[in-house]
Amino acid sequence: PLGGPAAAERTVTTCGYCGVGCSLEVLTRDDQVAAVLPDHNGPVNRGHACVKGRFAHGFLGSPERLTRPLLRRDGRLEPVTWKEALEYIARGLRDAVAAGGPDAVAAISSARATNEENYLAQKFMRVAIGTNNIDNCSRLCHAPSSAGLIAAFGLSGGTDTFDDVETADCLLVVGANPVEAHPVVGARLLQKVLRGTRLIVADPRTVGLARYADVHLRPRPGTNVALFHGLAHTLWAEGLADEEFLRRRADGLPELLDLLTGYPPDRVEALTGVPAEDLVAVARLYGRAERPAIIYGLGVTEHLHGTDGVRALANLAILRGAVGTERGFGINPLRGQNNVQGASDMGALPDILPGYGKVTDPLARARAEHVWGAPVPTRPGMRIPEMFAAARAGTLKALWIMGEDVCATDPDGTRVAEALDACSLVVCQELFLSQTAQRAHVVLPVASWLEKDGTFVNFDRRFQRVRPALTPPGEAKTDFAIVHAMASALDVDLGCRTPAEALAECGRVAPLFAGVSHERLDREGAVAWPCPDSDCPGEAKLYKERFATPDGRAKLAACPYLPPGESPDDHYPVILVTGRRWAHYNSGGMTRRTDNIRLDGTDRLDVHPADAARYGLRDGHPVTVESRRGRATLTVKLSDEMVPGQVFCAFHFPSSGVNILTSAHADTITSCPEYKVTAVRLAPVPGT
Ligand code: SF4
Repeated sequence: PLGGPAAAERTVTTCGYCGVGCSLEVLTRDDQVAAVLPDHNGPVNRGHACVKGRFAHGFLGSPERLTRPLLRRDGRLEPVTWKEALEYIARGLRDAVAAGGPDAVAAISSARATNEENYLAQKFMRVAIGTNNIDNCSRLCHAPSSAGLIAAFGLSGGTDTFDDVETADCLLVVGANPVEAHPVVGARLLQKVLRGTRLIVADPRTVGLARYADVHLRPRPGTNVALFHGLAHTLWAEGLADEEFLRRRADGLPELLDLLTGYPPDRVEALTGVPAEDLVAVARLYGRAERPAIIYGLGVTEHLHGTDGVRALANLAILRGAVGTERGFGINPLRGQNNVQGASDMGALPDILPGYGKVTDPLARARAEHVWGAPVPTRPGMRIPEMFAAARAGTLKALWIMGEDVCATDPDGTRVAEALDACSLVVCQELFLSQTAQRAHVVLPVASWLEKDGTFVNFDRRFQRVRPALTPPGEAKTDFAIVHAMASALDVDLGCRTPAEALAECGRVAPLFAGVSHERLDREGAVAWPCPDSDCPGEAKLYKERFATPDGRAKLAACPYLPPGESPDDHYPVILVTGRRWAHYNSGGMTRRTDNIRLDGTDRLDVHPADAARYGLRDGHPVTVESRRGRATLTVKLSDEMVPGQVFCAFHFPSSGVNILTSAHADTITSCPEYKVTAVRLAPVPGT
């Protein structure tokens, strides 16, 4: 269907699903997608794409797309004009500020939206409202990566680009399932392994890569910090640390060595369930490799001690001298959402301005104030869980949500719904009438990632262009246009009228991105930050001469292992772990409305056959899963990928209610929820 006289128009853009950032060629005819093809010039994907980026675009024409603003009247959402919707929002925001000051308003920005939209959203909150109450969904996934990597090395990003993995001779993949969640990365890793690169996988489940691993470690969920300390203990004990590097470039060794005396392999075996001999084998593999690489995912971050987990993992790279040197590929998080790196880069965070200046730092504030011509609030704002708590307490009056289905995706969903119901104004920008939108006072129809202009930053810090291939349906607008319209309704001019102008302005606030522009990206394709000026090629590999900490030295962390928030007991004897599957993406709002539904049509519970026998469960039959917070019904899938005593479920079908089960326990440093450890009990549904 692609050739012939009516040849399709071709738009090169960046995939709007996962954080790999595949470049795609979108072929359109009559304002409809004819095909999506992987771009052979794509710097990350090099002609590959997965089942999501390539085929999951049927949602665009779904009859369920929102095409007009909706306003709640007499309890029902009714179509209204944009003027009516915006006037209602402006009135509600003014009332909230009048009742509780600027901090009575909060916003949740979006890791699906472009950099420019996130930049404008945080500017709206700081300039038009006068609060730092803005956060994004990295709070739910990689906030511990930001905190941990900044503490260890100085910047919130992976230490290398993925191209460097081509030169690695040993891959340590921890708490990540790239074969399903980041398929193009998974394929590139697998190609390396099939060519002889050593592979270590640390994950409780037998994830796709684990079947190819030299060693597969299966720590009990919630015991990562003990595991990493056990590896560090062995690295040091066996003389595999790079003492010259440590002397020259790192701090904190005495304190760490003191701590590590408590983590010999036999004790770590008792804490984690990982056999001591496997632990020693992994320390030797990683420690003796010439160019080791650490790649990790949400299995490291989504824990009560997620930031400690990132830091303890970073310890390994520092001990080995495998970061900031030619020797290794450092430590690199696999970001889940297309622009979760960029949303944080742009300052859609309650304590961080664009480019990672702190709101408490007078110099960072002064730089932003100079560009914006307006004061920046000095007090850090609320994180997402704090917003919900404040709403339930009555101090947060108005919540603006830019494209997150928080009722479906945030933990302890019942309490999230209570928080929304307690607000006098909830504004939701959405493609579809999500669970969250159904509770909003105003719902605004938005353009999808195939209908907007801007940039994303992928998991290895590359800015890439997003270009509109289609016209948004009906009256839907881009998030960029909506933020401007909301500001205008409050009689505030945010400036930067186009996405290109917004990125240029961001570069004046944030020196890290000053050399990036739409025009340059159109010419060069991709540029990695830091990129302080237009002559800088962008730094693919960080910290070659010095780390970005104040004194230029990496920081080892002596953080003790502490148990997870929930442990199995007689009442809730099984650990539920949640994560992603191959065909779907996050809450499934887009992928469930595509033909991918034929590949995977429901959330199911992976159960080891021994647990199925113990609890009387049968393959394909319904099971009641109950935690301390609620109950959900899922379908059993017998799976030898699981360890007995642990079950796994994805969160792509909100109707299954998985996040009713998950707990409000959260990383003690960043408030990232502990999605990876929920104590549950299982029972067959009677009569099935
Ligand atoms: Fe899109 Fe990620 Fe798939 Fe690439 S790997 S096509 S970025 S979903």
